[in-house]
Amino acid sequence: MSRRVRLRYMEQEKVEHFRSVLLEQLRQHTDNVRENQEAALEMVAADDGVKDSVDMSLQDVSQELQFRLGERESQIVADIDQALLRIDEGAYGECARCGKPISERRLEAMPTARYDAECQSLIEASQGLDDISTL
Ligand SMILES: [Zn+2]
Repeated sequence: MSRRVRLRYMEQEKVEHFRSVLLEQLRQHTDNVRENQEAALEMVAADDGVKDSVDMSLQDVSQELQFRLGERESQIVADIDQALLRIDEGAYGECARCGKPISERRLEAMPTARYDAECQSLIEASQGLDDISTL
């Protein structure tokens, strides 16, 4: 067991399947990010004429929400980029923590998964609930 070999867990055609799924998601989320940014910019621009304090605070709230959504979308795009990188490296579908294969069912549900279910729940348990988005 001293020899460490990088195993290719997944057949090439399955890898290609996930690659196209990821590329499609990347395209969609890139659009979302752009729309969110545009919407946020429009709100900033619309701010100029608004002097009523109630409207202002409402607008602050929706701006904040837009920025948060934008951040979330950016995070998703980053996750997809990472997954595509792992495909290029031949490491896709492999748990980044324990190196075991991630089940295909899990990958179908979440193509950007970096960990198998076991490690994911361990990591989430150690992080607490702080990082789990409520959006
Ligand atoms: Zn694992």
